[in-house]
Amino acid sequence: EAASDSKQKGLDPSKLTITESPSPKQLSQPETLVFGREFTDHMLAIEWTQDNGWLDPKITPYQNLSLDPATCVFHYAFECFEGMKAYKDKNGKIRLFRPDKNMARLNKSAARIALPTFEPTSFVELIKKFTKLDSRFIPSQRGYSLYLRPTMIGTQKTLGVGPPGSALLYVIASPVGPYYPTGFKAISLEATDYAVRAWPGGVGDKKLGANYAPCIVPQLQAASRGYQQNLWLFGEEEYVTEVGTMNMFVVLKDKQTGQKELITAPLDGTILEGVTRDSVLALARERLIPEGWKVTERKYTMRELDEASQEGRLVEAFGAGTAAIVSPIRKIAWKGKHVDCGLKETEESGETALRVKEWIEAIQYGEEEHEWSVQV
Ligand code: PMP
Repeated sequence: EAASDSKQKGLDPSKLTITESPSPKQLSQPETLVFGREFTDHMLAIEWTQDNGWLDPKITPYQNLSLDPATCVFHYAFECFEGMKAYKDKNGKIRLFRPDKNMARLNKSAARIALPTFEPTSFVELIKKFTKLDSRFIPSQRGYSLYLRPTMIGTQKTLGVGPPGSALLYVIASPVGPYYPTGFKAISLEATDYAVRAWPGGVGDKKLGANYAPCIVPQLQAASRGYQQNLWLFGEEEYVTEVGTMNMFVVLKDKQTGQKELITAPLDGTILEGVTRDSVLALARERLIPEGWKVTERKYTMRELDEASQEGRLVEAFGAGTAAIVSPIRKIAWKGKHVDCGLKETEESGETALRVKEWIEAIQYGEEEHEWSVQV
């Protein structure tokens, strides 16, 4: 897929060279870890040039990049990234969760901004070697993991607006603790209509760095009014799209039959294709449909949620993403009122969010053997 030009070399894991760090870092106490603050001893990096394709992969000590101030990533945002985790199971084995999904998404993101693509299985092989080398950083308790950040940037030195003639694909890794160290904490959302995260024909369905910086000011504004996250709406109909940097799920009860329906927005170009989203849908189809549920990817609006809430049919709402797996939602501020999302005052999570989290964690930590969990 990467190189149609025969001179361009594909990503070749057999060419990997490893330079081990001369000064291994001291491990922090797992309980003190703050998301994305500490990094492991090494990094994985592969350069790409238009003339030669992917050069030999390198694992080196974690270090600064040195880039000319004119490098295109700084001016035109040639950057895309992934977020995935490595887990340690009870036997001390390291596992990745559906890495093929992250590779496919990274390739789609890269292709959209004229960066090169790569052979997914080759990159996973390299990530495995990197993760193994820095495995001492992965805490073994449930809820802890090593957050991996594959990143691709355009590195050509030019202010000309055009496809980058060179690129760097690299991976750094950060040990992380549970998102909710003391158990779930249901969050409150502000439905955001004045700022739009993604639109049809846009790039909100790609994991480009350029999609994230513009969401911070709306987030600060929501926070100043006491809400932890934005609920991103789209269009006059006020379709519900995503919550912060998570996919949104709701559980509604049917007006007539009382049948429960798990709903998430469809992949129509305004939604990031979450790996967790896909996993929740697959497990729900397998495990909830036999219990009589409906599982649906469809558009739904704030008005529909409000009406269901008032009629006591909005059973639950939660965000889903790699960081927290699920994040239960208490209420949504919308049009000057609060839409109640079905939790009792004393509850921090609904049943569905809890079950989904348990199902996914059991697979991630290898307690349930599943094809999604890939041994390193
Ligand atoms: N939506 C957005 C905008 C995100 O940034 C993320 C995090 N990658 C997600 C959803 C959840 O995706 P995933 O389940 O792959 O982490």
